[in-house]
Amino acid sequence: MLSVTELSPTTKKPACYEKACMARVLVVEDEADLREVLEYNLGQAGHRVRSAPSGSEALRIAAEHKPELVLLDLMLPDMSGTEVCRAIRKDPQLREARIIMVTAKSEEIDRVVGFELGADDYVAKPFSVRELLLRVQAVLRRAQGSETPVLELGSIRVDRVAHRVTVNGQEVQLTSLEFKLLVTLLERKNRVQTRGTLLTDVWGFVADIESRTVDTHVKRLREKLGAAGQCIETVRGVGYRLVDSNAA
Ligand code: CA
Repeated sequence: MLSVTELSPTTKKPACYEKACMARVLVVEDEADLREVLEYNLGQAGHRVRSAPSGSEALRIAAEHKPELVLLDLMLPDMSGTEVCRAIRKDPQLREARIIMVTAKSEEIDRVVGFELGADDYVAKPFSVRELLLRVQAVLRRAQGSETPVLELGSIRVDRVAHRVTVNGQEVQLTSLEFKLLVTLLERKNRVQTRGTLLTDVWGFVADIESRTVDTHVKRLREKLGAAGQCIETVRGVGYRLVDSNAA
């Protein structure tokens, strides 16, 4: 049986709840209506927001505004969001910026979050403004530095910076979703994660993904981790939990 403490999240507000997470944000979006909605709502949330309708304009504004977070549409009229992302990552003045990619194509998510690009997160269109604001806060909170670069459990070692996973020193090739799933479970080890929570925190707010997708990915992740995969426990009817006492 699950104890109550495992099921109820802590009620303590995160260290940088709301105001402390205000940031310089750049919204890159060619759809004028959406751009305005995002600009307005992020401004209301306390961020200093600039926006751009194209990639070239985005890079021009970024050079001057030095955004801490960029909300970057994948499909832009002049250049792709991935090119903009690369240009930001190459610029020593900008490379620390957090980047959230926005895409209408859920099948592109894996590629978009593709670590070679260096995006920190993604949201899939259509999304609600509230969902997007939560996502922005989550990324900014992570940026505030509580993140440990290396996570270890038994024989599993995850290097978040290099995006590298090894088991007993042997590299394991994970997709970006599997990587994110493993990191999420490791960060919350010994706590049950419902399928709903995992869908929200790992996949983002993708309307057409079903909860059995979680099961499929957990299964594949376990297989790739081999014997070490036993640390991921199924909690019947609820979700999953990574248990350190099962760590191989
Ligand atoms: Ca677009």
